[in-house]
Amino acid sequence: QYIIAIETSCDETAVAIVRNQTELVTNIVASQIESHKRFGGVVPEIASRHHIEQMTITLEEALEDAGMTLDDMDAIAVTEGPGLVGALLVGVNAAKSIAFAKQKPLVGVHHIAGHIYANRLEKEFEFPLLSLVVSGGHTELVLMREHGSFEIIGETRDDAAGEAYDKVARTLKLPYPGGPQIDRLAQEGEETIDFPRAWLEDGSYDFSFSGLKSAVINRLHKAKQRDEHLKPEDVAASFQASVVDVLSTKAIRAAEEYGVKQMIVAGGVAANKGLRAALQEKFEGSETELLIPPLHLCTDNAAMIAAAGAVAYNQGHRAGWDLNANPGLDLELFGGRKK
Ligand code: ATP
Ligand code: MG
Ligand code: FE
Repeated sequence: QYIIAIETSCDETAVAIVRNQTELVTNIVASQIESHKRFGGVVPEIASRHHIEQMTITLEEALEDAGMTLDDMDAIAVTEGPGLVGALLVGVNAAKSIAFAKQKPLVGVHHIAGHIYANRLEKEFEFPLLSLVVSGGHTELVLMREHGSFEIIGETRDDAAGEAYDKVARTLKLPYPGGPQIDRLAQEGEETIDFPRAWLEDGSYDFSFSGLKSAVINRLHKAKQRDEHLKPEDVAASFQASVVDVLSTKAIRAAEEYGVKQMIVAGGVAANKGLRAALQEKFEGSETELLIPPLHLCTDNAAMIAAAGAVAYNQGHRAGWDLNANPGLDLELFGGRKK
């Protein structure tokens, strides 16, 4: 069984093919980072235009790389949401056109279900499992009792982890995207500043990063007023220590409380060296197996959409010709949609 998937929710035009749900055949990602860099973030109109330019090229490249044609595919999967509406529309319309022209089944996929399912390309899921989703727009702990079922047990009340990284990076005048830059600096610095940790109420699995972001900005401001030199490496290390401490502590606590077989990490911030190391340390000797995707499957790609799309397809989910981009798509609905 072959599923081809298209992902255009943000600033990556991506096409991938997956065989028998878990085997990656090809994974092509055309990144637009260079075009957005000078604006310090993703500009939605520019993203849409790039997707239009890159869509057909990326699709052809994926098929050529796989040595296959659209006729070989069993279904077409596409990211339906959440994301930038104008960006999503390019992928959705491309997928609909292909599906209609080739008379193939069409499947809509939730972008975060994709980030989670990226892990299944590496190792089979064992339920119940928890996923720590840490991306540019989401930070949540998601409980899965079976394929296609998602229960959010905690989520951010303000900024996402990746968003906090990008905002702090901007105040440190680091180029976009800031996450990898802070990660790199943090490796060279030390935790000399004691930034707050937002634990929230006892037992809560929610997160909050806006207070930390403000604390970093205030500290930099104070240093400037006093003509005090703060090493950016130390600011990065101190900020990262706070983020990683909260994420990894809540993750292990949730894993123990829910007695899950696996903890799978998902989203762009899963690429973070500090987070990977802290989770590995916390889960060492734990009953729960820790899965962290390889770097190329952490940030946006279509392989993850194909992996989640394969599950949705095999569960009988089908999208109609009225499939539309849905920036506010609900993750928990994946298993409850029209079959
Ligand atoms: P979402 O998936 O929530 O819709 P998105 O698709 O924009 O948002 P991803 O592509 O999953 O997000 O991840 C991008 C985010 O990951 C950015 O905020 C980026 O700064 C962050 N990121 C990438 N690498 C690292 C890293 N090594 N350390 C910290 N953050 C990182
Ligand atoms: Mg991106
Ligand atoms: Fe993403």
